[in-house]
Amino acid sequence: MRSLLKTVAISLFTAAILLPLTIQTPPRGSVEAAAQRRTARARGNPEILKIVSEISARNIEATIRKLVSFGTRNTLSEQNNPNRGIGAARDWLYAEFQKAAAQSGGRMTVEKQMYEQAKAARVPEPTLVTNVVATLKGTQPESASRVYVVSGHYDSMCSSPTDAKCDAPGANDDASGTAAVLEMARVMAKYKFDATIVFMAVAGEEQSLLGATHFAEEAKKNNMDIEAMFTNDIVGNTLGGNGVRDRRSVRVFSEGVPSNETQQEATSRRSVGGENDSQSRQLARFIKEVSERYVPAMKVWMIYRRDRYGRGGDHIPFLERGYAAVRFTETNENYQHQHQNVRIEKGIQYGDLPQFVDFDYIANVARVNASALAVLASAPARPKNVTMPGGLANDTELKWEANKESDLAGYEIVWRDTTAATWTNSRAIGNVTTYTMKGMSKDNYFFGVRAIDKDGNRSPATYPRPAARNQPSPRPS
Ligand SMILES: [Zn+2]
Repeated sequence: MRSLLKTVAISLFTAAILLPLTIQTPPRGSVEAAAQRRTARARGNPEILKIVSEISARNIEATIRKLVSFGTRNTLSEQNNPNRGIGAARDWLYAEFQKAAAQSGGRMTVEKQMYEQAKAARVPEPTLVTNVVATLKGTQPESASRVYVVSGHYDSMCSSPTDAKCDAPGANDDASGTAAVLEMARVMAKYKFDATIVFMAVAGEEQSLLGATHFAEEAKKNNMDIEAMFTNDIVGNTLGGNGVRDRRSVRVFSEGVPSNETQQEATSRRSVGGENDSQSRQLARFIKEVSERYVPAMKVWMIYRRDRYGRGGDHIPFLERGYAAVRFTETNENYQHQHQNVRIEKGIQYGDLPQFVDFDYIANVARVNASALAVLASAPARPKNVTMPGGLANDTELKWEANKESDLAGYEIVWRDTTAATWTNSRAIGNVTTYTMKGMSKDNYFFGVRAIDKDGNRSPATYPRPAARNQPSPRPS
């Protein structure tokens, strides 16, 4: 083991020394090609690197300017005017997603998912709410029903959520997220994935998450197996109201205790721990690990909260229905450019205008999303029914259900200190469904299991629950 580590260390060292030299004097073809292959492998799956490189800030800019040109996209605004209002935005988005679908060889389909929203707090009269939903079907039979959803909301608002007439450019909130999702659809439609990816632009967010709630509710009714949901909402501003310019980080909000936790699960969690290990938190860890590798320019800043302080977003209806979900938002927000009537007051420009949006940054956020989605949809499903017996033991035994994918290579155990934010250790254990960590007590570490395919794509980790037969009850010791 030691000599192997040494060899690795030496070759890394050699590579570090040789790298500047190769820039000055390019080596002969085969040597260069081999070096490039090594670098590519170290960075990851070449197809995913290609996806990342194809995402275009110029396309994102064009989408945002187009969405802003509709004047307002308030959910209560006009639905039949081709030039102004949410209906114009809806139809334009539908056509754009269809253009993306045309590149998919028939694997992507686009629909307008509509329903009539009854009168509600921010809905003065019954209103048609429409989500534009593009579904890129997975190609592996065992995985096609496994779904990953990425969304942005295309509706906007000015100072008042029920003002349907005011200009509400919504360049950042949330043309930025919508443009990121459309760009991902354009690029990823050309690639094949084992599992299914849904690219979605929803309406009614500002009316209290209406479109996302409708989609999540329908999904639940139809037993849709949504393994993860990302909402991109306010992902375009890089100069915060705090005066800080940060173009290199994005916040990923994830909840610790599941929104849909039952009383019984809460009791179990209090007994064995796990308030930091919900499936959404595992998803955030997964995004950080994967995306920082594929998009080294960006730091994924995990925030251990469901959303910003006391706030909400389109991931919440998914969380409430038991789906893992996270929210992407820029690091430093500027409230002069969110939910504001466009105006100049005491020399300050208010309003959510394109001039305050950083298109290159949004492209990087889209790359972070796309790389994580691509790995999720290429990797096996996360292991199911992972359990750990509750008895007294110095070793830790883990069990799980076998995955069904034909390209499954096996599993890894991951673990970390109980105070660590991310998984710090992993061990490949082959294609088995039980494993014992010798000499490592479950009292002292958190463990997880993840599945790996033959190309090395890893699923997010699953945190074990106590095995049913020995549900631990607190006992005196
Ligand atoms: Zn928003």
